[in-house]
Amino acid sequence: MIYLDSHATTPVDPKVLAAMLPFFTEHFGNASSRNHPFGWTAAKAVETARAQVAALIGARFRDVVFTSGATESNNLAIKGVAARAPAGRRHVVTVVTEHRAVLDPCRALERGRFRVTYLGVTPDGLIDLDQLHAAVTDETLLVSVMAANNETGVLQPLAEISRIAKAHGACVHCDAVQAAAVMALDVQDLGLDLVSLSAHKMYGPKGVGALYVAKRNPPIAIEPLFDGGGHERGYRSGTLNVAGIVGFGAAARICLESRPSEAERLKTLRDRLWRGLLRVDGVHANGSMQHRLPQNLNVRFDDVAGETLLASLANSVAVSSGAACATVSAEPSHVLRALGLSDDQARASLRFGFHRFNTDQEVDSVVSMVADSVNRLRRRAPSA
Ligand SMILES: *Cc1c(COP(=O)(O)O)cnc(C)c1O
Repeated sequence: MIYLDSHATTPVDPKVLAAMLPFFTEHFGNASSRNHPFGWTAAKAVETARAQVAALIGARFRDVVFTSGATESNNLAIKGVAARAPAGRRHVVTVVTEHRAVLDPCRALERGRFRVTYLGVTPDGLIDLDQLHAAVTDETLLVSVMAANNETGVLQPLAEISRIAKAHGACVHCDAVQAAAVMALDVQDLGLDLVSLSAHKMYGPKGVGALYVAKRNPPIAIEPLFDGGGHERGYRSGTLNVAGIVGFGAAARICLESRPSEAERLKTLRDRLWRGLLRVDGVHANGSMQHRLPQNLNVRFDDVAGETLLASLANSVAVSSGAACATVSAEPSHVLRALGLSDDQARASLRFGFHRFNTDQEVDSVVSMVADSVNRLRRRAPSA
């Protein structure tokens, strides 16, 4: 089995696992226990991890809040800011190609007293900055745009987006889950106020994430999602997942150290795959090849039924036709539909996501397996 579904999750780096293990056994303390070394050791490890995660995005360590993952981070950012919105700021701007963990909290706001503008995208997958300009007003509370799309890898122009939002006093939230492992993303340079991260998309464990909350004057007011012990400066009550957080910190440190060379290597693998697939007739890339994560390729094939293609690969290559959640519901990807693809084109699309441990040989095998499958399926069912 070859794993090329890294936008769904990445394998845990063995170095990350090694860093975590002692925190299940000898260092099992509760990071909030103030009265003995078990607690002190756990608390110290959490603060080290906080600094490591902060460093990845150029943040100050005390502005990082640990959560259970990016779904929670996105909910905390969007619903949390909305719950404390000043009168007269009841408008949110986001994009149709965002992850469900952004779109669904926005839908929830619409059931309350909020208005949400969902910006469309060009066939390349990028937002139109003029449309953003037209959408943001002095009533806009929040602009939420992802750094990189989890299906197409398309990168949005964050600096320009935040400049437009700031001109109207709106906060900027960015779901940076897919980008943080492979590209420089500095919250100061980009003017980001809220940033969501997830450990399991960057070689860390599942079930741990972070929300960066910028220190601003006046501070960004956020209503917590849970009531409880007041952990994480009141933003997120609940006993900290110490081992998971330690793993997240180690994962962030490794990504920060290896990011430039790793991005280059992932791009080489991706380009090798794309060159190989171009030998198949009727193959097209979905989304901009220029503004794109180095580890992503999303392609569609003319005249093939998507489900059959995926089924024919299922026991040899782990890929998907869209986000893991969209696959569960068997709906064609809302992201690919937003790029202008038909339902059938979206279903006949494959999302490839490379990870740190993939090799050239794996790429070559995948090229021949995909090419064989496509050709075989076309022979079996000549274009309908
Ligand atoms: C995976 C993903 C999420 C959800 O993260 P979890 O930590 O799994 O909750 C949110 N946004 C994007 C872009 C993702 O790829």
